[in-house]
Amino acid sequence: MLIGIDLGGTNVRAAVVTRKGEVVEKAQRPTDAEGGPTKVVDNIVAVVKEAMERAGVGNGAIIAGAVGAPGPMNWQTGVVYSPPNLPGWKDVPLAEMVTSRLGFTVYVDNDANAACYGEFWSGAARDVDSCVMLTLGTGVGGGIVVEGRLLRGIDGTAAEIGHMCVARGGRLCNCGAHGCLEQYASVSGLVRTAADGIKDGRQTVLTERAGGDLENLTGKMISDAAQEGDAFAQWVIEETGRWLGVGIGSLINLLNPEMVILYGGMTAAGDMLFTPVRDMALAQAFEVPGKRAQIVTASLGDDAGVIGAAGCALQRAER
Ligand SMILES: [Zn+2]
Repeated sequence: MLIGIDLGGTNVRAAVVTRKGEVVEKAQRPTDAEGGPTKVVDNIVAVVKEAMERAGVGNGAIIAGAVGAPGPMNWQTGVVYSPPNLPGWKDVPLAEMVTSRLGFTVYVDNDANAACYGEFWSGAARDVDSCVMLTLGTGVGGGIVVEGRLLRGIDGTAAEIGHMCVARGGRLCNCGAHGCLEQYASVSGLVRTAADGIKDGRQTVLTERAGGDLENLTGKMISDAAQEGDAFAQWVIEETGRWLGVGIGSLINLLNPEMVILYGGMTAAGDMLFTPVRDMALAQAFEVPGKRAQIVTASLGDDAGVIGAAGCALQRAER
């Protein structure tokens, strides 16, 4: 058995996972990020023990575990530097702390990379050798598996797909650069595109729903308005799809993947999002890799993180 842990800013999840990538049992509890690293590690240990108890397995049955944690980090030493959504963290030796408390080896990997590895190992991409995953949330996270191997890069910072430049001199990103994909293709980017259009005088029910303050706009408001037939809201979702397609077209030319996986609440928009994504990706990519790459939704949902972390643990334990 393997232990997969998904450390988020709000919740920490753990699962007991088989060598084939099947979840045996899982548990979840609040991260208590405000409590700092010590409290978070207490919660990690507790949630792992809870999952193991439910599954009826002891330490003797565990090959290894891994935590999918927000970066930046050093995945080889297991030190997490200072993730924006884990306040008070600075150079925390997470792998060492969790390993000594649990009594079996626990590795640390980037959370988005781990989720991608989960979809590759036992989700949407289980029958292919190469895939790219984009997680569409407040930002855009990414993971890349090439010929069966997670691409981490020399410093472990590879696959920052959200910070690929898609517009020179474009919107300023939190990372300090301009025109990053996540400024257009994340939920925040979607909201920004809507707000910009409303400021330009576009007619939409969103103006009224925001109550006169565009700061109130949310992704949910936009998707609801689009479902109800608001033409501007539909355009905003399509435009977001076209930005995503531009980024994905470049990824397809770079990597020639068999599959591109999109994950996040935004994918519930279905064809309204996927049609412009596919059209734009095909227009941008070379013909052969463009036609090859299937662009699909993720299939593991919230379990991708824990399953992927378990898969990373297996891969690293066997090396
Ligand atoms: Zn950026």
